[in-house]
Amino acid sequence: MTEYWQEELETINRKDLEKLQLTRLWQTIERAAKSPFYQKVFAERNISVDTVRTLEDLQKLPFTTKDDLRKSYPYGMAAIPLKECVRLHSSSGTTGNPTVVLHSAKDLSEWANQVARCMYMVGIRDTDIFQNTSGYGMFTGGLGFQYGAERLGCLTIPAAAGNSKRQIKFIVDFGTTCLHIIPSYAVRLAEVMYAEGIDPRKDTKLHTFCIGAEPHSEEQRQRIEQMIGVKAYNCFGMSEMNGPGVAFECKEQNGLHIWEDYTIVEIIHPETLEPVPEGEVGELVLTTLNREAMPLIRYRTRDLTCILPGECRCGRTHKRIARFKGRSDDMIILKGVNIFPIQVEEVLMQFKELGSDYLITMETIDNNDEMLIEVELGDFSTDDYSRLQNLTKTITRHLKDELLITPRLKLVSKGSLPVQEGKAVRVRELRIKN
Ligand code: ADP
Ligand code: ZN
Repeated sequence: MTEYWQEELETINRKDLEKLQLTRLWQTIERAAKSPFYQKVFAERNISVDTVRTLEDLQKLPFTTKDDLRKSYPYGMAAIPLKECVRLHSSSGTTGNPTVVLHSAKDLSEWANQVARCMYMVGIRDTDIFQNTSGYGMFTGGLGFQYGAERLGCLTIPAAAGNSKRQIKFIVDFGTTCLHIIPSYAVRLAEVMYAEGIDPRKDTKLHTFCIGAEPHSEEQRQRIEQMIGVKAYNCFGMSEMNGPGVAFECKEQNGLHIWEDYTIVEIIHPETLEPVPEGEVGELVLTTLNREAMPLIRYRTRDLTCILPGECRCGRTHKRIARFKGRSDDMIILKGVNIFPIQVEEVLMQFKELGSDYLITMETIDNNDEMLIEVELGDFSTDDYSRLQNLTKTITRHLKDELLITPRLKLVSKGSLPVQEGKAVRVRELRIKN
């Protein structure tokens, strides 16, 4: 059995890790200086490798934003000749120009290593049969997990997204033991299994899920684990940082280790842009340390999280970040109150009577901005009107306690909300702006 436990790097002492980071940061600055984008930024601000003497000096370097990537479309961030690049991933670009991420062969190999390391960490081995339910194409969850799982030595099934009955047939016939799956889709797949008369505990060999790519609550994770009888581990990635494998939960399921030999992690206040203390929520900022084709310095991810203080019981020394609270651009402001969709999910998922699909609609009624939450019922009879009313009242009270505003809550029958393809859209914004 191949071991993919890179003990020396994963349990490296902090002092040696920081030394390694500084050396790699210098290399990153030197490489970045060759890209048209950083060449200009460095020249304007008189930045060179000499600007950074210690890791703290990283703060002297400017941030890089998604907008910078868009403006550099398509090749303005390339730090090596295109001839030496072997892959390009591009985001959909629903708002403005798409972004492009380039990879050298070594970049791809490092990425596979990162994903393999994550998978090994949660107990996946070369004896496992791994099915990837991510879209292949530009979505990095496809190829990212494919190469990671192959590097680990799993028998890998590139099932790709959708077609639940076919997914289930593969799971049963091929004896799939592990899945990579978006959390909202995991619940759907479980429901289809039940509907098909398949008991995942008895009729499948599933034991481990890697769930990520969209925000989800701890309650949602527990639901997935209970519905299918597996362990589900939170995995975080983003295309700008390659894709999956940036940070991943270990078996402790208490925060996601972020691989600090690959990235320098900072958490900043999204408005003052100053670093926040450990344990405080802010915006995640990442610097790549190994990338050749497209180094990124202090990339503002817009994702909100915090560094969890203390050491992890698993023995890994790389810092842990908390489950994501959301993205700074996901935040809803209603009557001056800041609300994250995940807070709504956390409340809803506590009620066993409810299913897992919900939709938040922000709307204007009689000049008033309001929040409507529609949530599907689980196995709950809608005939008993007074029970339904009581349930609605109780949930509304819990929502008010959490959100500090009172939303309108509508319990709807199972299957009545629109079925979503890919990452779940939880919020509709229909408010009339004055
Ligand atoms: P992908 O190609 O995987 O969809 P994107 O770059 O489009 O990657 O999306 C990345 C974003 O998805 C992240 O910035 C984050 O907001 C969200 N995301 C990814 N993984 C998680 C996770 N485990 N928990 C919460 N949000 C996540
Ligand atoms: Zn750990």
